[in-house]
Amino acid sequence: MKINHLTIIGIGLIGGSFARALRRANVCQRITGCARSINELKKAVELGVIDDYSTDPAEAVEGADLVFVSIPLGACSEIFEIIAPALGDQTIVTDAGSVKGSVVESARRYLGENFSNFVAGHPIAGTEKSGVDASFAELYDNHRVILTPVEETSSEAIDCVRELWELAGADVDMMDVERHDEVLAATSHLPHVMAYSLVNTLSKMEKSGDVFRFAAGGFADFTRIASSSPQMWHDIVFANRNAVLELLQQYEDGIDELKEALVKNDSTFVMNMLTDAKQARDIFADNRLQRQVNPDTEEGEE
Ligand code: NAP
Repeated sequence: MKINHLTIIGIGLIGGSFARALRRANVCQRITGCARSINELKKAVELGVIDDYSTDPAEAVEGADLVFVSIPLGACSEIFEIIAPALGDQTIVTDAGSVKGSVVESARRYLGENFSNFVAGHPIAGTEKSGVDASFAELYDNHRVILTPVEETSSEAIDCVRELWELAGADVDMMDVERHDEVLAATSHLPHVMAYSLVNTLSKMEKSGDVFRFAAGGFADFTRIASSSPQMWHDIVFANRNAVLELLQQYEDGIDELKEALVKNDSTFVMNMLTDAKQARDIFADNRLQRQVNPDTEEGEE
């Protein structure tokens, strides 16, 4: 497959890594980047991630065969509205947003005729770092990418986006939009909210200096993801607000049960709870390890 002109709107960790991975696969003739900060765009050219750039999204997509949108979710509607009149009839548009319902709704509203060429997607890969400096070609290797096409989506567009992700190193799965948002609320959005909340709880404690000074690996493991971009996570939790609220309630119920058991000195309950969790976590970790050894088996990350 060859793409003559790829435009990437949002040339940070996700967009920059997509560009690097496709460069590695020698797929694109020309990659144009778009962002608001000219310094980031210049850096992306210096790093060899993109060939040229524009801060004007409509100008950036002119003549593009494929447009990859990898910006915070809150900016997607505006960008779709701006680029819609500048897209060619055949231009395929895809995205990387972590929530799919809100993106598909905006694309349906603003992309008009091009909506059938829009393939919503989400790479299950990432780090807590942001910006083009943090991007790397191997980010998607053996990681899953979930595509959530809808009834109107053309099969040619789906095939093209699937092939591109495979060339970028990823394994592609298909899912319903609603299912995607429910599953990701559980596997990614809830853990991020919990990590941010735990850091805040500890940092507000009276002796927080001591708490952080003596914090060990467990704290670092649990809270690494709280170093992620606040803007990105703000947009994600609002875009998937209902699913996140539902899971926070379930989590709160679990914490309430644990509190009650501790108040009642119910050692059996606590032991069972810890044992069940360890078993479930060990199975998850084994599956993950297997996938690293044999990429045809289960799961990804972030
Ligand atoms: P990032 O590193 O912060 O990059 C975001 C990029 O978007 C930057 O180049 C930023 O540059 C640009 N941008 C922001 N607002 C813009 C606007 N209004 N118009 C044009 N460009 C704009 O973020 P990221 O981690 O790559 O995340 C991008 C998307 O991928 C998000 O939707 C996120 O949900 C999704 N995602 C992230 C991860 C992850 O682990 N990070 C994983 C899967 C999916 P300027 O600020 O200069 O405009």
